[in-house]
Amino acid sequence: MLNIGCHLSTSKGFIHMGKEALSIDANTFQFFTRNPRGSKAKGIDENDVKGLLKIMEDNNFVPLLGHAPYTLNPCSADQRTKEFALEVLIDDLVRMEHLPNNYYNFHPGSHVGQGTEKGIELIADALNFILTKKQTTIVLLETMSGKGSEVGSTFQEMRQIIEKVKLDEKVGVCLDTCHVYDGGYDIVNDLDGVLAEFDRIIGLDRLRAIHLNDSKNPFASHKDRHAKIGEGNIGLKAITDMINHPKLRLLPFYLETPNELPGYAQEIKLLRKAYIDDISFSVKPQKIHLS
Ligand code: FE
Ligand code: FE
Ligand code: ZN
Repeated sequence: MLNIGCHLSTSKGFIHMGKEALSIDANTFQFFTRNPRGSKAKGIDENDVKGLLKIMEDNNFVPLLGHAPYTLNPCSADQRTKEFALEVLIDDLVRMEHLPNNYYNFHPGSHVGQGTEKGIELIADALNFILTKKQTTIVLLETMSGKGSEVGSTFQEMRQIIEKVKLDEKVGVCLDTCHVYDGGYDIVNDLDGVLAEFDRIIGLDRLRAIHLNDSKNPFASHKDRHAKIGEGNIGLKAITDMINHPKLRLLPFYLETPNELPGYAQEIKLLRKAYIDDISFSVKPQKIHLS
């Protein structure tokens, strides 16, 4: 079965998100752990959490993806900005443990003129500061498109970050299809080549999740604007090839396309139809984390 969901609003709580996911035939979803721009996080309602866990168990859900606020910058040059990022990351990881064995995704950050090497160092420092042995959450670094001074737009940079992390068993990668395409990895004409490169540099066992988006911008544009599935420069054929790819097909896919719920329902329907439901088609199972 294709494991797919989309980004959902947390405003009405966890059970509500679970029900929304079910209503659009999703078996996972992504959510912001707090206001994507601001910092205030709502308290955790244990009954709400329990209700969602029950929905997930009854409906073969695969891991959820919590997404950190995208304004965090753990590799900022400003001390207060860096500290703030650490405070939020630590608090989010504590909160994620209320829903054990899921994923937490964050944008590595922007080095803002300090240089990529310094940026990589600061991001690794942040991870070494926040990760704990006993956490069940796997923290995912999201591949970026390389706009501005973003760190994490090449597989080499990802590898360099991960290499510096002590508890690296708690770290994985989330590949955003729009970002890598904009970042100059040709998943349209050479998906096999891109995955081989990912494997050689980072290791495919690090790849835990896919953000499935089309792109409004051309190849290697280093921009970052998501398009609906089949309506951008990546196109439906390449996206269909990706969900069916032997090395990707068992991973969870999360849509972050510019849609409301009915649009997501349509995309999920389309992609489920395009998925080849034949287990013999898969190569060795990826180390996906089933809760
Ligand atoms: Fe993101
Ligand atoms: Fe993304
Ligand atoms: Zn994006």
